[in-house]
Amino acid sequence: MENNTVVSIKNLHKSFGDVEVLKGIDMDIKKGEVVAILGPSGSGKTTFLRCLNFLETADKGIVEIGGQRVDCQDKGKQQKKKIIELRRNTAMVFQNYNLFSHRTLIENVMEGLVVVHKMDKTEAYDKSKKMLERVGLGERINYYPHMISGGQKQRASMARALVLNPYVILFDEPTSALDPELIGEVLDTMKQIADEGITMIVVTHEMLFARDVADRVIFMDKGVIVEQGTSKQIFTQPKEERTKKFLSRFM
Ligand code: ADP
Repeated sequence: MENNTVVSIKNLHKSFGDVEVLKGIDMDIKKGEVVAILGPSGSGKTTFLRCLNFLETADKGIVEIGGQRVDCQDKGKQQKKKIIELRRNTAMVFQNYNLFSHRTLIENVMEGLVVVHKMDKTEAYDKSKKMLERVGLGERINYYPHMISGGQKQRASMARALVLNPYVILFDEPTSALDPELIGEVLDTMKQIADEGITMIVVTHEMLFARDVADRVIFMDKGVIVEQGTSKQIFTQPKEERTKKFLSRFM
């Protein structure tokens, strides 16, 4: 991997039964890069993201994140350890937040630090509080998820991801479950994170986010990358018919 490459994916394949959902995906992402992945429903975007942190295991291919390299077909003894290590280099923001409902926001954010990183509780508390302040939830650290809005929940889940200081944050349609009036605050927080130089891979239907915030836009369809480029290239001069057709529905 080149020095500033934090994510490197080679020839990733994944099938569910007879259906090949990923048909050989390659991708290299540099530190601080914000990559938006667009494409029709069912094109394999979420599966791709889940294969990066081994929520799904690809059938074939190589995933390398933050210097930890995993060959998905490796059956060796060290494989499990490598996967745990690689997962520690990532954090994910889910469509449905995945917050623990019986824990307060600060407890949710602390969880990974204490359980995974074995951090001292006082230090984890301080770091988590700062992170919740950074996403505008400093006044609500002792609230339970049911007491706050969907937008606030998603900002809390971003704090939970950020506090782990991962090499990359994977966003899986982070605004899809939100009422329209709450989408803006979540996108604003994502933009703020992007501006801070965090490496992000974002599966999204938010065209304005892709156009205005992403450094690179990748268009996927039927398990392959059809086209990619800077957001300007993809939005103003898409080359492929499939990309043009997809974008024309939004613009
Ligand atoms: P996208 O995120 O682009 O909408 P997905 O990655 O969610 O696409 O899904 C791609 C295809 O894989 C779809 O046809 C979906 O039904 C199928 N799929 C996803 N997850 C599973 C699973 N766990 N078992 C079986 N099929 C799945």
